[in-house]
Amino acid sequence: MTKQKPKVVSNSDELAKPDDKVPQTKFVDLIESITLGETEIYLRRAGNRGDKRLYVRLHCDENTAAEAALSFVREEGGEALIVEAQQYRAVNFEFTYGGEKRKYYFDANRIFTPAGRDATLSIARRKNPQTGVDEALAWRLGEKEAVMLILTGFTKTLLNAMDLDSRELVVAVHNNRTYTLDEAAKTAKPGFVHKNPGRSLNDFFLVTQESDFAQLKAMGFNVVMQDNKNVKDDGSLSVFCKNKRYINIEAAHDHSKQQLEMLQALQELK
Ligand SMILES: [Zn+2]
Repeated sequence: MTKQKPKVVSNSDELAKPDDKVPQTKFVDLIESITLGETEIYLRRAGNRGDKRLYVRLHCDENTAAEAALSFVREEGGEALIVEAQQYRAVNFEFTYGGEKRKYYFDANRIFTPAGRDATLSIARRKNPQTGVDEALAWRLGEKEAVMLILTGFTKTLLNAMDLDSRELVVAVHNNRTYTLDEAAKTAKPGFVHKNPGRSLNDFFLVTQESDFAQLKAMGFNVVMQDNKNVKDDGSLSVFCKNKRYINIEAAHDHSKQQLEMLQALQELK
């Protein structure tokens, strides 16, 4: 076989034409911003828009999970949605109420039901002008209701972006330090805990469907099934998706190899 000479491209119009020998993918990588009170929050979206499989990263300090989801969808398909705010577990935002700039925070994995939003938005803060340190404040009259409206709007925007009804499988990716399989097992459906002593207790699946539990158990992974009937309404995505096919991938903060292996394992599910 003779080596082809590289094609010389002489003008920019030529450069803009798609090369028909290169397979065209629907791959997109874009960032949308959402205004939350007076703070911008970002949604990074990558992969095939509207794909049947969605991979979501909610906690902004869980970088291993974000990188695993993004690299996975580039290789294997699916759509990834990454919430990007500050580099903390909680999302912080500011809002001026009663003439004062106040600060609020919430757990992005506790906002999917009204009860969850109410519980996670339990406190207001402000920067103390003398010390520069954040201090907790009592709610002013009407303040919590006003902030709840903002948070409910944010949740709606996030749910629109997730478009859960169009997905066959929703996967949330998380990283942990102290939350382990043993902890998750306490609220699992009785009899639906599988522990492999050869794997770290930090690395496990939480599923909502019995068939996924059985298949992941057969593959030798740590896995628990949520007790969908009796699960406490904490506003988490796993509770919100209890009647859907939903899988949570938990891995330790630095276990990127394990998290990718777990993402890959889901490709085998029937
Ligand atoms: Zn998390």
